[in-house]
Order: sequence, then C-alpha cells, then structure tokens
Amino acid sequence: MRADVLVVGAGVAGAAAALAAKRREPGLRVVLVGDEPPYRRPDIFSVMEGLPPSEIDTLGAELRRAGVDVRVGRRAGFEEGGAIAVGGEEVEYGALVLATGASAWVPPVGGIDLAGVHTFRGIGDAFSLRGGIEPGVRAAVVGAGLIGVKMAAHLARAGLKVTLIEMLSVMWTVLDPPLSDRIRAALEADGVRVMEGAALESVRGDGRVREVVAGGTAIPADLVVVATGVRPTVPGDVPELARGIRGAVRVDRRARAGEGIYAAGDCAESFDLPSGERTYRPVGSVAYLSGTIAGLNAAGAGASYRGFVRRQAEVVLGIEVTSVGLSGAEARALGVPHEVVTLRSERRPGGVGWWYGDGADYLAVVERGSDRVLGLEAVGWAGSRRPVAAAIPMIGEGRSLGDLEVLGLVPSDRS
Ligand SMILES: Cc1cc2nc3c(=O)[nH]c(=O)nc-3n(C[C@H](O)[C@H](O)[C@H](O)COP(=O)(O)OP(=O)(O)OC[C@H]3O[C@@H](n4cnc5c(N)ncnc54)[C@H](O)[C@@H]3O)c2cc1C
Repeated sequence: MRADVLVVGAGVAGAAAALAAKRREPGLRVVLVGDEPPYRRPDIFSVMEGLPPSEIDTLGAELRRAGVDVRVGRRAGFEEGGAIAVGGEEVEYGALVLATGASAWVPPVGGIDLAGVHTFRGIGDAFSLRGGIEPGVRAAVVGAGLIGVKMAAHLARAGLKVTLIEMLSVMWTVLDPPLSDRIRAALEADGVRVMEGAALESVRGDGRVREVVAGGTAIPADLVVVATGVRPTVPGDVPELARGIRGAVRVDRRARAGEGIYAAGDCAESFDLPSGERTYRPVGSVAYLSGTIAGLNAAGAGASYRGFVRRQAEVVLGIEVTSVGLSGAEARALGVPHEVVTLRSERRPGGVGWWYGDGADYLAVVERGSDRVLGLEAVGWAGSRRPVAAAIPMIGEGRSLGDLEVLGLVPSDRS
C-alpha cells in the first residue's frame, strides 16, 4: 500500500491531522490507521452507562466524507529501519504523522492487578466497568483530576458508595484553592467521601479487590477505578525519534519529530504559550490543534505555532469549571514566578448579568512583578465560562491584570 500521508492513531489528533492534510492538498492519498474507531474520549462515560459505541463514532463518517482512507480495527506495526506494516501489508509513505496517544498510568503498588481494579481510557474500559455498576457497591476512585472527579460523580449518582482518594487536592492541576473547595463540597453533597492528601499505598484482596489502603487508612472497596494520569504511547522502532518530558516524542514548533515525521496529541510534547516552555499536556484542545499543524505540514505547508493556551471547560456536577492558560500548579512546575489573585465580577448597573454567571468565583494566575496574565480559572453557574474564554486572546497577547477589567473582572484582594 502507498500513502502520501500516513497517520497512525485514530484519536482526536490523528483525525485532525488527516482532515487538515486532505483539506490542504485534496489530491493526496491520506491513510488513517487506528486500532480503535475515532471517537471523543469523554463520551466513554455514556458507554459506561449503556450507550452503544456505534452511537459515539461520529468522526469516522466525517473523515470518509473528506476522502480520508480510514483503516480502523488495525494496528500499525513498526519494524526495524522505519518500515510500517498494517495487517501484514507494508505501507510506503511520503510523510508520517504519529498520533498514537497515551495510555493510563497506574501507581506501582501491591495488588494493583487484582480483579475489580480498572482504568478508564477507552471503550473497552467502559464496557468492563459497566457490569460492576450497581447501587450499594463500594467504589474507590483514585485520583481527583477531571476524570476521577467525573467518575466519582457518575458512580455516586448511580447509587454506589464512593470514596475519592487524592494525594494532593481536588482538581489541583487545573484549579487553585479556594475554587477547588467548591468542587469538593459539591462532591460531598452528592454523598462522595473525599480524602485529600492521601496517597494510594496498596490494594488488598484475595484474587479480587476487597479494600484499598490510602493515607494509612483501609477503605473497603468492591470496585476501584484508577485515574492517576497517563503516559505517552510511543512506538520504539521509529528511527531518530527523540524523547522528552515523560518519554513523549520531542517535536519542534512545526510538530516535526524527524525527517518527514510529525507527532501530535498525547504522544508528543507541545509548547506552552504563556511561559514559552516545552510541556507534556495530554488534553483534547492541544491534541486537536497540534494534530492540525502536523497534518498541514505533512501535506507540505509550513505551519508553525508559538505555543498553545491550555483550555478546559467542563460541567462537573452541574457546575461550570473553566480553566485556561497556566494554573498555579503548572506555573510552579514550570518554574514561573507567579501569584494567584482572587477576582470579583463587576456587575455594573446596566451591565449584562448573564455574562458573568451568577455566583461564580474567579482567580487569575499572574507573573510576579509584571502582573502579566498567565491563566484564568472560574467555578460557578451558567455563564462563568464566557469571560474566561474571552480572556484567551488576552493571555496570548501578554496583557496584564488591569486589562481584565474590560471583561468585568477586577482583583478583590488588592488595593
Ligand atoms: C474519559 C476521558 C475524558 C476526557 N475528558 C477530557 C476533557 O473533558 N477535556 C480535555 O481536554 N481532554 C479530555 N480527555 C483527554 C483527551 O481525550 C485526550 O487528550 C485526547 O483524546 C488525546 O487525543 P490523541 O488523538 O492524542 O490520543 P488518543 O485519544 O489516545 O488516540 C490515540 C489512538 O491511537 C491508537 N494507537 C496507538 N498505537 C497504535 C498503533 N500502533 N496502531 C494503530 N493505532 C494505534 C490508540 O489505541 C488510540 O486509539 C479525556 C480523556 C478521557 C480518557
């Protein structure tokens, strides 16, 4: 088989790359190979609750309409010297886009392989969890990032007795206190027992999980879901592939990993715009944008980017959670001197109330000294994501805290 552009991995990054390559050069033969059908990963919560997977396979039709040769249910085999085989057939390619994603990372503690311990990354995980979801079942969810928090909420609403175990604090990667406290309070109001500052020590049972030990406490559990982050999936046999943070593929600002090789999404590093630093950021928005750049360049364009502004906008337990740019935790990890500033929304007389979202709390992460805005976070009711979304270009332009006033956001803890 011959492909002008061969994309391996049919997730968001791979789909975006294939579509971008085809859009740029409609005459090219673009082949997308994936062991799973293309879908949005957040939809696997619906599969866990009973939705047939065929209902969430929405990207496949779009890709075929665009003229992409989609080969799903196939794993690309990487052979010595850079050859790639699909279903036993060798594929010759002009340019290669690696969009092989990531897989769930589990802490290496005793008992983690016991039956009843699950991860939550793909459709297969959603299926295997389905059978265990029954009212009264005792569930432990390990990791209170976005996926762990949503999992705890889903299970609690299905009638399970849920304990959420977190080494640091709820949603600490994207929310700074006190905003994260609101999510913890909402979880507790839904009946979830939240244990912060408690690291998973072991899983115990006899063939099947019976309890987990975290922060020195034994917690009875019939079901465990581990949501402690991901590690990039990188084929070992691609020559000249340099590895960076957490083993992700090292790329330049054109998503280029080597001669004729591009990498995007959760398998690759990316650049952060507010800090200008390299990061490993396995989130959907970066996967989509980096996939698009990789696809354009694989088709001969010269697209490059300065960096991405991370953006996350979710509804958790009916509460809007929005976080863009650098959170305090990310700024710390990147060594960026910063301050976290509480904001209040200025609802001037005659102002448009729905813009701010009633009862929303806002925080800005600013560079220490210059007050340049690095990130913005909001937790609240419908509407609070609007001013945060409007701040994204301002973060890109390097505007300062005082400039947020045009969005109706002013510091409340500064004179
Ligand atoms: C439950 C859940 C909820 C999420 N919610 C959000 C959210 O709300 N917001 C957000 O920003 N992000 C969210 N994410 C993260 C987001 O889904 C990922 O960042 C995104 O899916 C990454 O896309 P990707 O294409 O890089 O990788 P993936 O989605 O991992 O896709 C890569 C694909 O390549 C396949 N593959 C690997 N090697 C080969 C090979 N050799 N041959 C063939 N195929 C191969 C893999 O099996 C996989 O299907 C969520 C993730 C999960 C699991």
